[in-house]
Amino acid sequence: MMNIIDIKDWGLGLSEHVLIAGPCSAESPQQIETIAKGLKGSPVELFRAGVWKPRTRPGSFEGVGAEALEWLQIAKDILNVPVTVEVAKTQHVEAALKAGVDVLWIGARTTVNPFSVQEICEALKGTDIPVMVKNPINPDLQLWLGAFERLNKVGIKKVAGIHRGFSDPYEKRYRNKPEWSLPIHLKRMIPGISVICDPSHIAGAREIIGAVSQRAINFGLDGLMIETHHDPDKAWSDAKQQIKPDTLKIIYESLIFRENVDEHPEMLNELEQFRQKIDLLDTQLLELFAERFKVIEQVGDYKREHNLAVYQPSRWEEVMESRIQDGLRKNMTEKFMKSLLFAIHEESVKKQEAQLKETRPLTNA
Ligand code: PEP
Ligand code: MN
Repeated sequence: MMNIIDIKDWGLGLSEHVLIAGPCSAESPQQIETIAKGLKGSPVELFRAGVWKPRTRPGSFEGVGAEALEWLQIAKDILNVPVTVEVAKTQHVEAALKAGVDVLWIGARTTVNPFSVQEICEALKGTDIPVMVKNPINPDLQLWLGAFERLNKVGIKKVAGIHRGFSDPYEKRYRNKPEWSLPIHLKRMIPGISVICDPSHIAGAREIIGAVSQRAINFGLDGLMIETHHDPDKAWSDAKQQIKPDTLKIIYESLIFRENVDEHPEMLNELEQFRQKIDLLDTQLLELFAERFKVIEQVGDYKREHNLAVYQPSRWEEVMESRIQDGLRKNMTEKFMKSLLFAIHEESVKKQEAQLKETRPLTNA
């Protein structure tokens, strides 16, 4: 069991719907000042700026470096909020701590590497600075979880996650495809942890930042980190996905925050009736599945007796086609139908393969 202190109790005045904003990269003291002034009057609670930038290929802007840490004080003075930067190695941590940075974050390209995460943890020993951990670039919950465990082992309890999507070469719509089930799993595995969404790195394009933010809220995520720049097109990194402070204000105002039903006993009562119906339907569904698998077993016996292949492509195609059509008529999406059918089929094939290896005498086939 991990021992964690949630964002609201970091002593930095952060709320349960924390908004983190600021540029992808710190570029100059003037840039920090202009952006901070633009953010005045917005609900920003934590100011971000990348000082060391992990770039996929060398030659692009790799951040101003430690010198830029001092500029963050400008944002602190203007906005009266704490500041956060990304760290990836010992020198970053040491410089950030020395400069009085309030919160650190570990980037997606660092979370994938346990050596780097461990190095950061060693440098953090003896401090209690809050650390936010972005998900690794691949959807590996264990790696993400491992980073929190390493932090906890060196005594860092003030932690939060950031969902920034996952790299997927086939994905067209997003720069980094969101996988909403992962932050939900993480919240289940580390009770009490906040997971913030970074719609900027998920979207990769400023036009869909608002839509991704709303989805994050709908999935119960705890806040947003949005890259903000006074002149986004001229930003030195991630130009396409940055938005102006005024746009951030408009997006934020348009968001609909949903309340947690646990805080409304009267609604909980009404919901309970629907939930009981769902529980019953789920039991019936499982009974039907179990029955279906029994028939599958009989088919398996028949195939074993007649030396037939477990996988019969023509039958499978016919099943897929007819069930998908049926599902569509009943208002279910093709994507849902396909994943459901694939899961059923995979389980059936596995069962029949196991049967082929059995020596049990054939019964009714
Ligand atoms: C960033 O926040 O600017 C950044 C580099 O993000 P990520 O680690 O999610 O790619
Ligand atoms: Mn960025």
